[in-house]
Amino acid sequence: MASDPDCIFCKIVAGDIPAEKVYEDEHAVAFADTNPQAPTHVLVVPREHFTDVADLARDPQAAAGLLAGIRAYARQEGLTDFRTVFNTGAGVGQSVFHTHAHVLAGRPMGWPPG
Ligand code: 5GP
Ligand code: ZN
Repeated sequence: MASDPDCIFCKIVAGDIPAEKVYEDEHAVAFADTNPQAPTHVLVVPREHFTDVADLARDPQAAAGLLAGIRAYARQEGLTDFRTVFNTGAGVGQSVFHTHAHVLAGRPMGWPPG
């Protein structure tokens, strides 16, 4: 399974650095964002290292696994309304280059996003 020894989210997946994990399965791990932007703000990541959502899309099984993980986490929490964000590229705010879905809920959400 591909991982990057310098990647903070690979270390969280492996349990080498602490995180508040809220869901995990064969393909995906979800944990609380340390700088929450909504009452619910978790990051759902593939267990394997991919740099962004475009990179992840090259592996359909891992991509489907991540989407299934988002769905499973939402069902676990009883979330019916939530926003899912993938930042792709530093120019739009990506700061960790291990694919992650932000799942945000629990407050009104404006559109278009900032
Ligand atoms: P990005 O800006 O790449 O879309 O999102 C990265 C997210 O990771 C940010 O919301 C940031 O708060 C979160 N984050 C950065 N480092 C850590 C960490 O060590 N642990 C956790 N739980 N979240 C982190
Ligand atoms: Zn990684």
